[in-house]
Amino acid sequence: MEARKTKIGAWTALLPLLLLAAVLAGCSGSGSAQGVSEDGKLLVTATTGMIADAAKEIGGEHVEVTTLMGPGVDPHLFKASQGDIRKLDRAAVIFYGGLHLEGNMERVLEKIAAQKTVVAVTDGMPRERLIAGAEESEEFDPHVWFDVDLWKSAAETVTDTLIQKDPSNAEAYREQGERYLNELGQLDAYVRERMLEIPEKGRVLVTAHDAFGYFGRAYGVEVVGLQGISTAAEFGARDVSALRDYLVERNIKAVFVESSLPARSMEAIVAGAARQGHEVKIGGELFSDAMGEPGTPEGTYIGMIRHNADTIAEALK
Ligand SMILES: [Zn+2]
Repeated sequence: MEARKTKIGAWTALLPLLLLAAVLAGCSGSGSAQGVSEDGKLLVTATTGMIADAAKEIGGEHVEVTTLMGPGVDPHLFKASQGDIRKLDRAAVIFYGGLHLEGNMERVLEKIAAQKTVVAVTDGMPRERLIAGAEESEEFDPHVWFDVDLWKSAAETVTDTLIQKDPSNAEAYREQGERYLNELGQLDAYVRERMLEIPEKGRVLVTAHDAFGYFGRAYGVEVVGLQGISTAAEFGARDVSALRDYLVERNIKAVFVESSLPARSMEAIVAGAARQGHEVKIGGELFSDAMGEPGTPEGTYIGMIRHNADTIAEALK
């Protein structure tokens, strides 16, 4: 115990990498039991808002959930700060997307996994239901939350993990997990109905990055993106003109901007199409890799998916 205290004292003055080392050594700075809040709740840290939302819905009053990536944050480019490392350090359970969604955080998560429960919510998804990645570094497309039926698997993984880590509240987790799966089933049906309002020929979704592959496959919408699956890849002027030509050729009326990406690429395409005499409007903002502000309907997974379905249906129908 004495030796441990001395080590902590020396570490506090050093860099984030050593903070990570502290995590690995299992030294929690606070006085309370590790992984449990002062009022006895299981401490859960999730990378994206969509995952955190599932943990909140299923964990209810028995968990305290911390989200690393807030509204508008791009998970492909996210780097953990010292504060984020502390949030990971406190947690009893860490949930992340996996499939290289959190490209820059993967090494950190892998290291922490040697010491505590670190779970990729995509682990339980049948591989045959995953779409191939567009980039060499990505075997699978990580944007699985846009197929609501597939996302149920993530909710099941969260439920199973919470039961395992905190068996005394297993009954509550099971019940809330069931309820959430039901809500996801209703959401899936809602999106399907809304897409059917669009004439089949017009079911084309043009967005700035290929986040919507699962959405397109699940709900019968052709998806055209400007750049690769990961926003880490830069797009060029050639991509912009190719997409502009496609819009003119297919007579597509609306394109969409995304909350976690700058709107300027889509605005350039709209302007380019206008110069060729084809009017394209911005159909609205879609949530892609991050949810909306907390406290708004879009600040939940269900609200964000409904918002997208409504925005797409209204602009294209
Ligand atoms: Zn993405």
